[in-house]
Amino acid sequence: MKTKFFIFGVCLMAVLWRDTFDPESVRCARVLVTGASTGIGEQVAYHYAKMGAQIVITARREYALQKVAANCTSLGAQKALYVTGDMSQASDPERVVKMAVELLGGLDILVLNHIGSTPFAMWNGDGDHVRELMQLNFLSYVNMASAALPVLEQSAGSMIVVSSLLGKITTPFVGPYAATKFAVNGFFGSMQHELAMQRSNVSLTVTTLGLIDTDSAMDKIRGYTNMTAYPASDAALHLIKAGATHQKESFYPGYIYFVCLCRDWFPFFRDIIIQNSYTY
Ligand code: NDP
Repeated sequence: MKTKFFIFGVCLMAVLWRDTFDPESVRCARVLVTGASTGIGEQVAYHYAKMGAQIVITARREYALQKVAANCTSLGAQKALYVTGDMSQASDPERVVKMAVELLGGLDILVLNHIGSTPFAMWNGDGDHVRELMQLNFLSYVNMASAALPVLEQSAGSMIVVSSLLGKITTPFVGPYAATKFAVNGFFGSMQHELAMQRSNVSLTVTTLGLIDTDSAMDKIRGYTNMTAYPASDAALHLIKAGATHQKESFYPGYIYFVCLCRDWFPFFRDIIIQNSYTY
């Protein structure tokens, strides 16, 4: 009986995690990637470029965007353009979507990925910082989604929202950031239900990432924890595949799915393990 159960489990996992992604499905796709001047967003742009997509990238730093766009062209992008924008400004999220739609003649894929910087430290009581980060990491996502949804409806397109294990599990030193990611998960989780109820043809993927080896993340956690960081390029490819295969939720690296499953089972031990994973 136990063996049958085990085999059933293995088969179920194989079915759930089989790779059905066809890179051809994104060839010529019109893609907008936010936070693409560096880190995971930059890697997302490069993967789409290799697959022959038409890309608009956005962030604040024009020089960095120019370089990423030029790299995308060399890697094979059908189009590689950039729009600068500051997502802490109330009007920029909508403006950037509108410009991308104009430049691409529509939109098939929106990747919401940008984040603002925040200290990796005990919260110092700064409520303004929490408010600003909410605008940057959450409200701007809502504004961009709102501007993009009607266009994505026309193209039966997809939206990929980049979230974090810290939007599912609380740990020390990340209060403001975790708050924004919990908000992202709550809002877009609800939107997934509503799109389904409306029989919308827009697919919405929320990707939960563990620790990824981007410069910004590594600079922050150095000296605080020795958790393994996973490659940004693999994380980027993972989320592209999850979006293209219309998964509602995806997890990278895969083991964090089980971390999320176990989160509420043993709260006492969970908290002891988390607190002992950090030095302060
Ligand atoms: P980075 O810090 O490397 O990149 C952040 C991007 O956002 C940059 O392109 C930056 O460009 C842009 N950005 C910052 N501020 C603004 C602003 N005001 N307006 C517009 N764009 C802005 O982040 P990562 O690549 O590490 O993370 C990407 C995503 O992955 C995030 O959603 C993050 O939560 C998620 N994630 C990352 C993990 C990790 O360990 N790295 C773990 C779990 C989730 P510029 O400065 O030019 O504006």
